Amino acid sequence: MRRYDVIQSTVRLLGPSDPIICNIGDPCMELHDVRDRAANFYMLGSLGLASSIGLGVALGREKTKGKIVVIDGDGGVLMNLGSLATIGRYCPENLIVVIVDNQSYGSTGNQSTATTSGIDLSAIARDSGITHSTGVNSIKAFEEAFQEALTATEPAVILARTNIEKPKVARVEIPGPVLRDRFMEAIR
Ligand SMILES: [Mg+2]
Repeated sequence: MRRYDVIQSTVRLLGPSDPIICNIGDPCMELHDVRDRAANFYMLGSLGLASSIGLGVALGREKTKGKIVVIDGDGGVLMNLGSLATIGRYCPENLIVVIVDNQSYGSTGNQSTATTSGIDLSAIARDSGITHSTGVNSIKAFEEAFQEALTATEPAVILARTNIEKPKVARVEIPGPVLRDRFMEAIR
């Protein structure tokens, strides 16, 4: 399975104004290519902080307004492992963290990450108190897990094990302040 497929399924299964906070680099470009929407928050800097930003949005938003989805990567989660512990501590029921694990820092030349040696980030999430945490190896399994997470009454982590394949897509050329303002307006 490719990351692009995971992103496509995520967007298709969500409502048009459900927030998606997306990891820096190729994931942002792919999300933008799949569907640009005001409720997409493309990170243009700060590798590792997508899950922290998602946690903040989830804690600050009324639970009745639906789920907040984070699309992060193995490299991003490894850079900020403490974020899983913080999510486990506060347990916002409206947060779904999708971790795309391609065992590499894909945006900087596919250098291998620690998950290459068998480290299971969904197990770390579970041990951090996020009990609704699972790993999937196919797009069918991902969609089933995602639909389950959408109706869960607790935070969810879905680790999607993907290959490193990526389609050629354009950069996100929208200025940061515009992204911020339209995101805030969309999720209000
Ligand atoms: Mg990666």
